[in-house]
Amino acid sequence: MNLFRLSFAYIRTRRVMAVRSRRQLEARQLRLMRRHFGFVLKHSPFYRDHFREAIRGWDGSDLTFERLEALPLMDKELMMTHFDRLNTAGIQKEEALRCAWQAEETRDFTPQIGKVTVGLSSGTSGNRGLFLVSQEERERWAGTILAKVLPRGLAKRERIAFFLRANSNLYTSVRRRRLSFEYYDLLHYLSVHVERLNRQQPTILVAPPSVLLSLSKEQARGRLAIRPVKVVSVADVLDNRDREFIGEQLGKPVHQIYQCTEGFLAATCPFGTLHLNEDLVHIGREWIDKDSGRFVPIVTDFSRTTQPFIRYRLNDVLVLKKEPCPCGSVFSAIARVEGRCDDIFYLKDQKTAQNKAVFPDFIRRAVWQAGEEVVQYRVVQQAPDAITVAFEEQSGTDRKQAEEQMRAAMIRLFNRLDVQPATIRFTYYQPPAADKKLRRVERMWSP
Ligand SMILES: [Zn+2]
Repeated sequence: MNLFRLSFAYIRTRRVMAVRSRRQLEARQLRLMRRHFGFVLKHSPFYRDHFREAIRGWDGSDLTFERLEALPLMDKELMMTHFDRLNTAGIQKEEALRCAWQAEETRDFTPQIGKVTVGLSSGTSGNRGLFLVSQEERERWAGTILAKVLPRGLAKRERIAFFLRANSNLYTSVRRRRLSFEYYDLLHYLSVHVERLNRQQPTILVAPPSVLLSLSKEQARGRLAIRPVKVVSVADVLDNRDREFIGEQLGKPVHQIYQCTEGFLAATCPFGTLHLNEDLVHIGREWIDKDSGRFVPIVTDFSRTTQPFIRYRLNDVLVLKKEPCPCGSVFSAIARVEGRCDDIFYLKDQKTAQNKAVFPDFIRRAVWQAGEEVVQYRVVQQAPDAITVAFEEQSGTDRKQAEEQMRAAMIRLFNRLDVQPATIRFTYYQPPAADKKLRRVERMWSP
C-alpha cells in the first residue's frame, strides 16, 4: 500500500471538486483524455483497430470533444469478446476468469494475477463482466473515494462498515490509521450482522439498498442500535421510498455511490445530489428522452489504464437534474439512476402498435399510489402484454384494496402514455437471495 499515492489522489480530488468553472473542468478533462488516448492507442491493440478508421489523419494529442463523440461505441459484450487484446497488462480472459471464480467459490478474497486485481461483476450467467485494476489504480481509487465519501475529511477517526457481495482487494486497500474497516459478507445471516454492527458502532455504513432496508427494520424493532454519521447506498438502484424509510430509521439522509465494473461514476455531495465524477470520467449522453432528461451514459474513463474504457455504452438509464445543486459544484448533477436499459418496460402504442418505453420510475410511482401499506414490491413485465406485481403489505392491510389501487394507477399510466394495457396479475412478494440484486422493476422478455 502506497500511502503517498493514496494521499495524493485524495488531495487532488478535493482540489478538483473545488473547481467552480465548468470551462476549467472541461479543459482539464480534455488534457487528461488526450494523454490517456495516446497511451491507449499505443498499448491496446483492440482500441488501435477499433478506432483505426475514425482517427485517420489525427492522433491522440489532437482529440477534441467532437472527435470523441464521433468514435465508435463499445459495450460489455465487445469488451468481453476482445478482452485479451483490450487490456494493457497482457492478461488472458481464461486465466482471469479462472482466478475470479476460484476466489468466489472459496471466498478467498485475493483474486490477483501479479499485481493486478481481478473482479467479476454481477450479472446473469454468461453476461458477467471481468474487470482488472492495477495496484496503482487501486491506491488512487482509494484516495478518490475517500475524498468523495468521508464526511469530515481525514482529520476524524472513522469506523466503516462495508457490506459487499464479494470482497476484493479493491476495498480492503482502504485502511489507514484513522480509518478502520470492517467487511460484512452479504451471505451471512442478518442476526450475525446486527450483533457485529452493535459491537462495531460504525460511523459510516455502506451497503446495498436491500441491506440498508433490512437493517433499518432491525433498528426500528430495537434490535439494532447504531448511530452512523453517514449512510451510503451502493451497487443497486435506490428507490425513493426506501431512501426515506432508511433515512428516518438510521437518522441520517442516505447518500449514494454510483459505481460499477465500468468505473466510479457518481457520488452524492453534502446536499445529497448525485454528481457525475467528471474528474475521472467523461460521460457522453445518448438521449432517450431529452425533455425528461433521460439518457444512456457513454463512459470514457481517463483514469484507468489497465483495462481502458473509451466510449463505453453503459446499460443504464440516468436522469439529468434540471435545477442546479445548491452546493455550487460544476460536476453535472443527476436526479437519479433510474435503472438498467433492460428494465424499461415496452407496451404497444395505441395508434401505431410500435413499442413504447414505460420507464421504471413510472412503474414505481404507480405502486406507491397504493400508499405506505405496501412495504415490499417487485414488478416484472413477463411478456409484451403481461405484468406481474409481487408485493408484501403491512399486517392488517386490506390486500384486495391495495391491489385495486395499484391496478387503477397502472391503468391511468397506460392511458396517459396512450399504450395498449397489459394484464396485471398480483402475487406474494419473495425477497431475493442475500447475494442477489434487488430489482424492483424488471423486464423478462426482449422486444
Ligand atoms: Zn451538489
